[in-house]
This record gives sequence, C-alpha cells and structure tokens, in this order.
Amino acid sequence: MLNIQEIRKDFPILHRKVNGKALIYFDNAATSQTPQQVIDVIVDYYTNYNANIHRGVHSLSQEATDAYEQARIKIQKHFNAKHSHEIIYTAGTTHGINLVANGFSSLLKKGDEIIVSALEHHSNIVPWQMLCERTGATLKVIPMNEKGELILSEFDGLLNEHTKLVFVNHISNALGTINPIEYIIEKAHKAGAAVLVDGAQSCPHLKPDVQALDVDFYVCSAHKICGPTGVGMLYGKEEWLKKLPPYQGGGEMIAEVSFEKTTYAGLPHKFEAGTPNISGGIAFGAALDYMNNLGFDAIAEYENELLVYATEQLEKIEGVKIYGTAKEKTSVISFNVNDIHPYDIGTILDKMGIAVRTGHHCAQPIMDFYKIPGTIRASFMFYNTKDEIDTFITALKKAVMMLS
Ligand SMILES: *Cc1c(COP(=O)(O)O)cnc(C)c1O
Repeated sequence: MLNIQEIRKDFPILHRKVNGKALIYFDNAATSQTPQQVIDVIVDYYTNYNANIHRGVHSLSQEATDAYEQARIKIQKHFNAKHSHEIIYTAGTTHGINLVANGFSSLLKKGDEIIVSALEHHSNIVPWQMLCERTGATLKVIPMNEKGELILSEFDGLLNEHTKLVFVNHISNALGTINPIEYIIEKAHKAGAAVLVDGAQSCPHLKPDVQALDVDFYVCSAHKICGPTGVGMLYGKEEWLKKLPPYQGGGEMIAEVSFEKTTYAGLPHKFEAGTPNISGGIAFGAALDYMNNLGFDAIAEYENELLVYATEQLEKIEGVKIYGTAKEKTSVISFNVNDIHPYDIGTILDKMGIAVRTGHHCAQPIMDFYKIPGTIRASFMFYNTKDEIDTFITALKKAVMMLS
C-alpha cells in the first residue's frame, strides 16, 4: 500500500496554488511532476561536478562520466536489457523513433511494408511517412474499434513477406488503451518483421521487460516517469543496433576521423553524437530509483483505483461521453460533455486550479475516427487522490452549468 500523503510531500509543485486555488494536476500523460529527490540530483550535478563526459582526464569529468554511465546501467536493469550498450540515451521518445526510422532508410526498398497502429501519437506517424517517402515503402494501418482497441484480426491480415517493420505504442496517450504488444511482437516476428514499441505512456505505469517481450526496439521519455525533460532512452537489440547506421555525426560517436574516412565508435556511442544531457541522464536514473522504491505493482493498483473511481463519478454526470473504453486501460480518461467545446471546459477548470489537457492530444487520426475535434483528458499518477477527483467533478459540473 502506498502512503499517498507522504508521497505528495516529495513533490513541491503539488503544494502551489494556481489562480488562487490549490493545484490539481491531471495532465500527467503530457508530463509528470518531479520529486525533490530527482530535483536534488540535478542541483547536485550543477553544484558539484558539472563537466563534460568521456573526454577529460580530470576528476570532475571522471565523476560526471561515472554517474552518467551508472545511470545507464540503472536503465538497463530497469528494462532488463541484456547489455548496457543496448541502452542509447536520446532526447526523448520522438528522438528515439526518428533515430530508428532514419536508420531503416538504408535497409528498406520499394515494395517493403511498414505497419503502424491507428492509435498512434503524431510522433509515431510522421517519421514513418517520411521514411516511406524516402524509400518507396508503403505504410499500412491496424484499424481500431469503437472502444479504442486495435482489431487484431485485421493486423494478422496486414502481415506478409513484405512487412519489414511494425510500430505500435504500448499504451495510447489519447485513450489509455493498453495494446497487446506480446501478440503483435510474436506475429510480426513470425512474418520476419522487426518491432518498435513506443513506451512513452507505459513506463509511468508498468515495468517492461524487453527480453521477455523479445521486442526489437523500445523507446521512452524520462519526463513522463518523474524525470526531467529532454532525455529518454532507446533500447535496441544488439544485432539491430549494429545493423543500423549512425543517426547524427559529431563528436563522441567516432573512433577515428580523417578527411578521407571516419570510422564509427562502437555501441552505444555510435548513436550518441555531441555533448548529451548529462544531468538529465543521471536524473533519469534517479527517477527510476524513485519509482522502483514505490514499486510498480503498488503504483498500478492504486492508479487503477483512481481510474475506476473517476470513471464512475464522471459517468454520473449527464451528457458525459468517455472515449476509450478498452478492457485493458491505464489511468487516462478522455471525454466530452454534450457538444461543449473541450477548450471551453479546460479554460474554466484552469480558473479553478485544475490542469487537464484539451485538444487532439497529438493523435488527430483517433479524433477523426470518433468525428470529434478533441477531448478533455484527465490523466492520473500515483500522487493524485480521490479527494482531488471529487473536487474536479464538482468543478466540472459547475463548468458545464456555466456553458450550457
Ligand atoms: C509523450 C508521447 C510521445 C512523445 O514524447 P516526447 O517526450 O515528446 O518525445 C510519444 N508517444 C507517446 C505515446 C507519448 O505519450
């Protein structure tokens, strides 16, 4: 059992006011809040050992390098990767996806096929469209049903000997659907295709085991797991990372450089050109420590309670329609009330100190599917409470009254 009141003390931002009201932060699917333990790690870095890594012989550089590489090992252990050099630091999920998409440019040819799901974030659609333009490959889409679940029988039908890659998010940021990635990975592998899973939305709620999943690539962002912005990771199986060409050229990613020829560094440095977000990487490790200390089973159980409670309360309000009612979902609720524009409700909620997301959530194809401009999205983390949900429901009723 989590002690939520104690946990909330770790998050300074949860104690501020917004528009004169105590902040209620329900926009966790966009970014999570940062505990003091992680903030301290960043402050400590800049206060005590800020230096560039992997180059200097001096002590500060050594300390920074050690801390950065230890964090990589923490990330490796967390995701149960076989080798630490299978963990590539990135600027976040979007960067990781682009790195893989770019690498596949040299591996694909006309007639090859890529499959994505209808539940994708824009960051998981656009890079593949660009890849298809560059290579002449074709993009296929796994359709979804009214509940916001992928239609797996249709997926089976899309797979064939031309399929080279399958891309799917583990959990949809717009609807909260947990996708059956085990099934997708197994089927894709049988067809000879590689699989990249976007874990941006799953990593805050569960602990993926990349070896058990047998996934080829897995990406996430630290800022959705209580870490800082601008850092994330790409896991890739060693054999795949060796096959992919480097993404960006620069310092740190080379073995030898001359004007005639440059040879690339080994993994993971081949993909880590330039000075990285050093404090961010170290803080990413600290964020995983923080979450693991709470325990992912306890987190999932509590967040599910919040989801069930909030769903019940919302359904009692006349005119509320919830989008995304998959059997397997996390603590994300997308909804509208009658035909009130989500933006208008979001604005009034903000006046009452409540942060929710409104709009298309970078997933316009999903909104097109439901024929709506957008939704209001409330997304919960382990530091949210039922009391906050009660306040939110009261505020929402007030907003609806004002706008009807
Ligand atoms: C947030 C998110 C992204 C993008 O993450 P960035 O940190 O902005 O790169 C991609 N996919 C999903 C499912 C997300 O929730």
